Amino acid sequence: MVTGESVDTGPTQPDVAVVGGGPIGWAIAWRCATRGLRVVVHDPAPGSGASQVAAGMLAPVAEAYFGERELTGLLTESASRWPGFAAELTEATGVDIGYRTEGTLMVGLTADDLAEARRLWAYQQGLGLPVTPLRPSQLREREPALAPRVRGGALAATDHQVDPRRLVPALRLAAERAGAVLVAEPVRWLSEITAGVTVVAAGCGAAALTGLPVRPVKGQVLRLRAPDGAPPGFRHVIRGYADGEHVYLVPRECGEVVVGATVEERSDLEVSAGAVLRLLRAAVDLLPEIAEYDLVETTAGLRPGTPDNAPILGPLPGHPGVLVAAGHHRHGIVLTPVTADLITDLVTGGGGPEPLLAPFRPDRFGDLPGGVGVTATGSTFQPATEVDTWN
Ligand SMILES: Cc1cc2nc3c(=O)[nH]c(=O)nc-3n(C[C@H](O)[C@H](O)[C@H](O)COP(=O)(O)OP(=O)(O)OC[C@H]3O[C@@H](n4cnc5c(N)ncnc54)[C@H](O)[C@@H]3O)c2cc1C
Repeated sequence: MVTGESVDTGPTQPDVAVVGGGPIGWAIAWRCATRGLRVVVHDPAPGSGASQVAAGMLAPVAEAYFGERELTGLLTESASRWPGFAAELTEATGVDIGYRTEGTLMVGLTADDLAEARRLWAYQQGLGLPVTPLRPSQLREREPALAPRVRGGALAATDHQVDPRRLVPALRLAAERAGAVLVAEPVRWLSEITAGVTVVAAGCGAAALTGLPVRPVKGQVLRLRAPDGAPPGFRHVIRGYADGEHVYLVPRECGEVVVGATVEERSDLEVSAGAVLRLLRAAVDLLPEIAEYDLVETTAGLRPGTPDNAPILGPLPGHPGVLVAAGHHRHGIVLTPVTADLITDLVTGGGGPEPLLAPFRPDRFGDLPGGVGVTATGSTFQPATEVDTWN
């Protein structure tokens, strides 16, 4: 679309305008700016979207669900790019983004929980994904803090984690160091933008701007802190089934543990007592010691969901010069590297047709609703700032 050299299109017109300063937008801005393009990022509240709440699991194996083969392929590809991406970002910024590689333990509390988990592990193994079943004694060797009641588990050694609250500022710093510029205002209409290429990376905000079927899927999350500034008493990400409840616990070096998450077809940011109760009960059932931790934050965020749970990547039908990188739903952190690379290749016209992109094109949803598009759609953007924080 534009060449690797910066195009002289006038004194104020950028080569690339990115709408949205979440992980996806900043990563694309960074990649484009390092290729010598003039990049602006439009966002009145960068980093305030779903990434502010996200746990940061990089879990293509544990998140390989029935009926999502193509998505699993993209997740796996992106996860394989994470080590290099993390190293490059740390090199560019000096920021510790909390990238950790201890792996993920998937566990079942009761016999029923374990039976449910085993069905999924069998499916994942059938795809050739690295899932290693562990006996209870092996589980406890790895994580002595697990409850004695936990019946069994499996290791997904290649499922890692990163801290999104460190990642997004680091991506912004890298992009700005490479020359990208923030315009701290919302985009209401894509027709407001004058740039060689516009990339819509606005998370849930992409729906109003493009008419594509991106919908908010609410997730409530808790943050706990180990006592006395100590690190948590476990090292792996723990994903479990506990009396039918699904829960995950993500330990950070700084002592924080992220416990999540609800999945609700709602668009408010309220935190409910019932959700806190269910998450805490399931988490304490798996790791009793966290009952002694401080509960420091309860938050809700909105995942940018799509009808097939997969992201929307590529040209917006009927609108030359507009690309979409949105709808990353539960996977926007793990999908950041591959999204940035593929979209930057589209922006620069490099790489030729990309088979990886084919299943995720915006036109897979058919015609957009009549009247919707770059000249007819108005964003009613509201920054997501209403979080309920304790302490
Ligand atoms: C509870 C929860 C847990 C999660 N856990 C994980 C996880 O463990 N691993 C994982 O990979 N993913 C996880 N996710 C998903 C992940 O957070 C998202 O997929 C990811 O943040 C999407 O990135 P994004 O940049 O597209 O959107 P967002 O992070 O939502 O950012 C969108 C940005 O666009 C801006 N914006 C919106 N509209 C406009 C507009 N009109 N003009 C200008 N700017 C605009 C917003 O201000 C915001 O800064 C989780 C999400 C939630 C809610």
